[in-house]
Amino acid sequence: MATSEAVPFAKTGGLADVTGALPGELARQGHEPAVIMPAYRKARYCGVTHRPLGINFIVPIGSKMVTGHLLEARMPGTDVTVYLVEQDHYFDREQLYGTDGKDYVDNCERFVFFSRAVLEAIRLLDLPVDVLHCNDWQTGMIPAYLKIEYQHQSRYQDIATLLTIHNLAYQGTFWHWDMLLTGIDWKYFNWREMEFHGKLNLLKTGLVYADSINTVSPQYAEEIQNSPLGCGLEGVLQHRRDVISGILNGIDTHVWNPAADEHLAANYDADSFTLGKPICKQALQQELGLKVDADVPLVGFIGRLAEQKGIDLIAEVMQRWLPSEDVQWVLLGTGDPKYHRLFRTLADRFPGKVAARLEFSNPLAHRIESGADIFLMPSRYEPCGLNQMYSHRYGTVPVVRSTGGLADTVTNLPDADPDTVGVANGFSFHDYSPMALSDTLHRACHVYRAHRDRWSDLIRNCMSRDWSWARSAREYGELYEKTVDRARQGVGV
Ligand code: ADP
Repeated sequence: MATSEAVPFAKTGGLADVTGALPGELARQGHEPAVIMPAYRKARYCGVTHRPLGINFIVPIGSKMVTGHLLEARMPGTDVTVYLVEQDHYFDREQLYGTDGKDYVDNCERFVFFSRAVLEAIRLLDLPVDVLHCNDWQTGMIPAYLKIEYQHQSRYQDIATLLTIHNLAYQGTFWHWDMLLTGIDWKYFNWREMEFHGKLNLLKTGLVYADSINTVSPQYAEEIQNSPLGCGLEGVLQHRRDVISGILNGIDTHVWNPAADEHLAANYDADSFTLGKPICKQALQQELGLKVDADVPLVGFIGRLAEQKGIDLIAEVMQRWLPSEDVQWVLLGTGDPKYHRLFRTLADRFPGKVAARLEFSNPLAHRIESGADIFLMPSRYEPCGLNQMYSHRYGTVPVVRSTGGLADTVTNLPDADPDTVGVANGFSFHDYSPMALSDTLHRACHVYRAHRDRWSDLIRNCMSRDWSWARSAREYGELYEKTVDRARQGVGV
């Protein structure tokens, strides 16, 4: 598994959660995974011990020859080996990709180097690789190098490649002269392969050359084949639609477990939520300075205050509802200063009804997941999303916009048959509009207030879903098998 980040070594986003959790679960299911990532300063000082392997290699980067070294560590709590590619000029830096909101200017060079290092490491370590699982644009060159440069060496001929897209909005696009860094012939710099509107696009390169492609939810896999979520690559993705699939990420069911969560005022499970959840709600209302009232619906949001997360819809609906509706709101997040100001103002104007915690707090996130009745995720797009799965586990009913992973995990309770909950485990809507969110939230609040039995059935449905990594890893195991078959049949480029 080639990745630019993995928990606990280095993390900037959800990619690190996947590459930190999936290998351990694959190993438990009988696979033999290994992880390879850059030896960033953060990775070397993350508290996990590592040792140098005494293996050095030299690769061409443009007109230079660059040396790297391999370190070895273990993924905590597992037998999985993690190889760290050491190259201090590229990776011994404060951050992973840039500082002060600016990317490092040599990011293309850094990850071209890393991609070459991965292929060299396979040879030097004599690793018997069936599938090279690449992730995001940082590893996009790997499938291309395999097909263009390494195809004549027998050791590499049977390696199949899977490229996972964690968020298509980040593509690794660089000016055309960076082609020289790759060492790949200019003839590949065309609209069918590595070029994208005059620039070098590393994600596109990976999408063209990988044997299989997947995203972190089945619905997102469909959505990115069209505009606008295809972010310009919809044509390439349509062309490769036969090899694209989606696998939902899992959640850490030990860390997010209401039955044993040390952050909560009371612990509970699917059989005892009627006792435990009200205690958590009351404690949360007290902690946040909200009016303590068991009957008023408490609506929660946790996440980046960014338009991707639908924060503009939430802001709009709150302003309409606050003067008249008897509903409480808790928001935990950081992001756009405009929303910091707005939510602070609303919290000042409606102190018993609105709590805005504009910070990052993991313990409070756990208490909101347990104490809220309803969890909001009206995202504009959502490759997978985690909070809706945490909400299910904590018996907090999600209200979501039906997109990406939210569409795959949340089954709407329809209005039509008010007495049958069936398999519903939340409320969802399609239109990205304040009106659609407001209507759906009204439906949820109505069921909460007027049909307590149905609400309890919804909670039971939520809490019974299996969002563990074990489920996800089984699907990856099947996809690896398919990928090997595809590579053998030459289905790729
Ligand atoms: P993203 O697009 O930001 O990766 P996800 O829903 O996939 O969205 O995951 C976000 C993760 O970060 C969740 O675990 C969420 O609880 C956590 N998170 C986001 N903002 C905060 C915050 N302010 N405080 C605590 N946890 C947060």
